[in-house]
Amino acid sequence: MRLLLVAYPGAGKGTQATKLAVHYGIAQLSSGELLRAEVARGTRIGRVAADYLEHGDLVPDELIFEMLSAPLLQAARNGGYVLDGFPRTLRQAEVAYSVAQEIKDIELQAVVYLRVGPEELRKRLQARAAREGRTDDDEITIAHRFKVFETQTEPLLGFYASRGILLDVNGEQPVGDVFGVITSAVDSLHI
Ligand code: AMP
Repeated sequence: MRLLLVAYPGAGKGTQATKLAVHYGIAQLSSGELLRAEVARGTRIGRVAADYLEHGDLVPDELIFEMLSAPLLQAARNGGYVLDGFPRTLRQAEVAYSVAQEIKDIELQAVVYLRVGPEELRKRLQARAAREGRTDDDEITIAHRFKVFETQTEPLLGFYASRGILLDVNGEQPVGDVFGVITSAVDSLHI
């Protein structure tokens, strides 16, 4: 099974991705988590990415492809993946799609859009900032990340809708309810 979660920062995509990975026995690949780990380890990718993360800007595509290609291929061979945070731009999605035309059984089968309104997002992000202390969860950077999502990531939804693989889920319910809605929607696809 090969899934992608798309959502505004703070909507709960990391939380749902972890639960889905456990439930379906597939790998979770979170581009944000992987980037934060690269920064923490001080790798070459991490040293370049650090500034972008700090300011809530998207890391250049080439670094993202470099970081994710091997784990993505490996996960696809080992039963599947749930992606959280990649693709995040139309260009990333188009490149991933064209690579997937060349390699069997790696292309996305379903994309879940977790829909959460701005008020609820702000509340959740404030709670996360207090809990995890992510440096990009301060108010100014959050406002910028919302803008980045709106301009660069939202166009992905049309791309996946036109391919008939987009599931639109109300993400404002409690975590367990959101999870139930996602799994029923995914199961009904009989992937
Ligand atoms: P996230 O944990 O998904 O909120 O991502 C945190 C940060 O990592 C983002 O604000 C970006 O700076 C960077 N990032 C994560 N995924 C990508 C991606 N696919 N392309 C570019 N930058 C990314």
